[in-house]
Amino acid sequence: MKSDIRVCGAWRARHDRPVYTLSATCPDCGADTENSAPAPFNPEDPYGEYRRSFKRSDR
Ligand SMILES: [Zn+2]
Repeated sequence: MKSDIRVCGAWRARHDRPVYTLSATCPDCGADTENSAPAPFNPEDPYGEYRRSFKRSDR
């Protein structure tokens, strides 16, 4: 399952804390939202294989 949580792009200036939403605009201030930072461990990590092969060739 893919998460599509977005965060208010202007929350640092307009809110005390990040405002998360699923919509393209902040429900509080109407600013554009952006994708929230990806989780550290993503089972669908598209770079997982690249990272592994990079490590292998590094040896
Ligand atoms: Zn906002």
